[in-house]
Amino acid sequence: MANAVENIIKTIYENYLPMEGAGKVADYIPPLAKVSPHKYAISVCTVEGEKFNIGDYTEKFSIQSISKVLTFSLLAPLVGEELWQSVGKEPSGSPFNSLVQLEYEKGIPRNPFINAGALVITDKLLEKVPNLNERLLLYVRELAGSADIDFNKEVADSEYATGERNKALAHLMKSFGNFNGKVSHVFRTYCNHCSIEMNTAQLAQSFLFLANGGINPLNGERVVSTRDTKRINALMLTCGLYDESGDFAYKVGMPGKSGVGGGIVAVIPGRLSIAVWSPELNRYGNSTRGIATLADFTTELGISVF
Ligand code: GLN
Repeated sequence: MANAVENIIKTIYENYLPMEGAGKVADYIPPLAKVSPHKYAISVCTVEGEKFNIGDYTEKFSIQSISKVLTFSLLAPLVGEELWQSVGKEPSGSPFNSLVQLEYEKGIPRNPFINAGALVITDKLLEKVPNLNERLLLYVRELAGSADIDFNKEVADSEYATGERNKALAHLMKSFGNFNGKVSHVFRTYCNHCSIEMNTAQLAQSFLFLANGGINPLNGERVVSTRDTKRINALMLTCGLYDESGDFAYKVGMPGKSGVGGGIVAVIPGRLSIAVWSPELNRYGNSTRGIATLADFTTELGISVF
C-alpha cells in the first residue's frame, strides 16, 4: 500500500494545488481570517507506522471542531450510558451552531460533534477531570507523539469575546436543566480546546488510535475500548461534517471530522488515518479542497469503509 499512498497523495496534491476561490476562509473568529487561503497539506499515517506528507504539513493551524472528537474520546471511558440522556447520537441535518433544533428538542443536542453537544461534553469533562486544560493537552500530545502542541491564546480569547451564539446555546441548554457549570467557565474552556493548533502530520497521528482499535500505536496503550472506538467512528461517519455528513459519507466513505480552520481528519479502521488542511470553506463550514482530496484518495486507493 505504501507506494500507492505516496503516489496518490502526490497526484491529488498537484491536481488540486491550483484550486482557488473554492470557498471562503472563516472570519467569524477574527484571527482565523488572517490565514492564507492557499495553504494545502496532506498527511497519512498507517497502523504499520508508515507516514506520508505533502505540502504545508509542517505548518500548524487551528483544529477548531476537530477537537470535539478528542474531548469526546477523553470523556467516553469516564461515563456510562447515562451520557445519552444529555446528548443524542443522531445527525442534526442543521448547521453546527444552530439554535432552532435545540429549542424544539428541549435542550438535548443531537450529537456530541455539533457545538451544543460539545459544550455538554466540556461541561461533563469539567466535573470529572481536574486541571482539564492541562490534561487535554497531555492527552493530545501523547496521541500525536509530539510535545509541541498547545492552545492559541489569541484565537481562544477572540472566540470567547465574539462567541455570542455559542453562549446562547449554553444558556438555552441551562434553561432546560441540561448544563451544570457556569456558562462563562465552560465556554472559555471550550474555546481553549477549539484553539489547539497542530499540523496535518500531528493531526493524522493523533487520530490513528481510531484506526487501530482504540490503541495508541506509538506506545501500545489503550485510549478507548473497542466498543467506544466503534461508537466514535460511527458518530464521525454520521455526524462529523454537520449537515454535509451524508454527502461526505457518499463521496469519501470514511468516518471524518472537520473544523472551520480548514482541517479534516478521517480514518479507515485497520489501515490508516489521513489529515488534510485547506482553509477555504464551503457553505457548511467544511474545507472544499479537503473534501475533494479525501474523495479522490479513497477512490484512487480503492479502499474505504465500504
Ligand atoms: N470554535 C468554533 C465554534 O464554536 C468551532 C466550529 C467548527 O469548527 N465548525 O464556532
